[in-house]
Amino acid sequence: MAVSSNVLGIVLKTYDLGEKDKILVLLTREQGKLRVVAKGARRPGGRFAALEPLVEVQAAIYPGKSLYTLTQSALVTSHRLVREQLDRLAYGLFMAELLDLFTVDAEARPTSYDLLSQALTHLEEDQPETVLAYFETHLLRQMGLLPAWQACISCQTTESRLVALNLPEGGLVCAACAQKLGGVPLTEETILLLQFLAQVGWEGYGTVDAGALAPKLAKVLEQFIFYQLSGRPRSYDFLNSLRHL
Ligand SMILES: [Zn+2]
Repeated sequence: MAVSSNVLGIVLKTYDLGEKDKILVLLTREQGKLRVVAKGARRPGGRFAALEPLVEVQAAIYPGKSLYTLTQSALVTSHRLVREQLDRLAYGLFMAELLDLFTVDAEARPTSYDLLSQALTHLEEDQPETVLAYFETHLLRQMGLLPAWQACISCQTTESRLVALNLPEGGLVCAACAQKLGGVPLTEETILLLQFLAQVGWEGYGTVDAGALAPKLAKVLEQFIFYQLSGRPRSYDFLNSLRHL
């Protein structure tokens, strides 16, 4: 028998369903990504009207044939400071879309939930490019795609400095291999930042002043991520139109 369950969820995106309702793509901590009908959510002032993308809720959901139905929701945080500043909103929507693209329905990934939830919280006040670089690094790590910095991915040398990120090889390459295979150039400092961000938790990421390096790292990781996804998220153009780099 189907029973309703209580979940913690972040709204990744929403679709209109008829005149009054919405379908939420809800990343839940307990059950992964689910599609949930929020009845009456399109009516202003309705009880589910506040369920906009990036809002985090405690929700009661009831399983149906292909969609869940939302029966109750209590706001955990609206990430208001992100949603009310257009540039920060663009970063938040981009991160939410990346998680959406990297996950399949109904596969629980509590660490990915926590990563997005904490990224949105930090995005309320921190330097957005640093938050994004941290998020991208850890998303890649969680998906098992983080480029290794110990050796050249192609010739395996540990003797030469790594100078570029080769997309098809899926990792960092030395100068000799970069010349043969190509790659997106990366400075030593940028690789060190990647290494640092990959190894610290949120409590440590603010201890380094990433300054101008963070956007450089974020941009390289984006190219790598788009290669892995074989495409660009739709929110990327919106983000870039607001990015001051
Ligand atoms: Zn090499």
